[in-house]
Order: sequence, then C-alpha cells, then structure tokens
Amino acid sequence: MTEEEVAEKMAIYDKLCEEASQYAHLCDFKDGVCARGGQSCCILQPGERRDACDQLDRANGCRITSLPCKIWFCGFLRDLHPELDAKIAEWKEKASLLPHMLFFQSRTDYENSLRGS
Ligand code: SF4
Ligand code: SF4
Repeated sequence: MTEEEVAEKMAIYDKLCEEASQYAHLCDFKDGVCARGGQSCCILQPGERRDACDQLDRANGCRITSLPCKIWFCGFLRDLHPELDAKIAEWKEKASLLPHMLFFQSRTDYENSLRGS
C-alpha cells in the first residue's frame, strides 16, 4: 500500500475513533466498575484465557488506541441504549474499508500493518 493510501485509511480510522469516543461515557466507569455492574470487557475477555487484556493498565485504563475496541459495546449496554445499534452498524460499514484490523491492536501497529500489505 502506498503512503497516500495508508494516510487515507488512517484518516478514516481517526475519524471513527473520534466519533466512537463520544459514546464511551455510556460505559460509566466508576472505581473500576462499569455500567454492566462488574468487571469491564477489558478484563473479561470472551474466548481468552488471560486475566485481562495485556494493554490494560489497571490504574490508568487502556494504554493504546484501538478502533475495534472503541466501536464494540457489550449486549448489556446495547440493550440499555438501542440507539447504539444504528451507530454501530454505520461504524462497521465504514470500518470495512479498513482491512485486517484486530481487537487489542494499537493504532500504530495497525498503521504499520498497512505499510506491509
Ligand atoms: S462495553 Fe459493556 S462490559 Fe465493556 S466497559 Fe462498556 S459497559 Fe462495561
Ligand atoms: S486494547 Fe481494548 S480490551 Fe485492551 S485495554 Fe484497551 S480497550 Fe480494553
């Protein structure tokens, strides 16, 4: 991928991050507990055997920016906020322009992966 193409993809990435961040407050973190009433999805990793995500700093939160994490919301929150469904569908459609993104992958690692593609 050319540098110009990478820059185009990362502009989409940043715009989606910015937009999804406007909904992050819905998780309503207080003292390490989120709206679901327990440990967040950064700790309970579906399908994983780890105690928590490697990127999680328990004192300061996530160490990285990861778009797939930002545009993901749990079923509990989606039941509380049905308006998220349309937003998430819109984000997923735009995110389909960004090939091979991974959960827990930093913005920098994703950008570097595009350079290698
Ligand atoms: S998406 Fe759900 S589980 Fe994850 S932090 Fe938000 S409320 Fe908690
Ligand atoms: S990478 Fe994703 S799962 Fe891991 S700490 Fe950050 S937001 Fe949570």
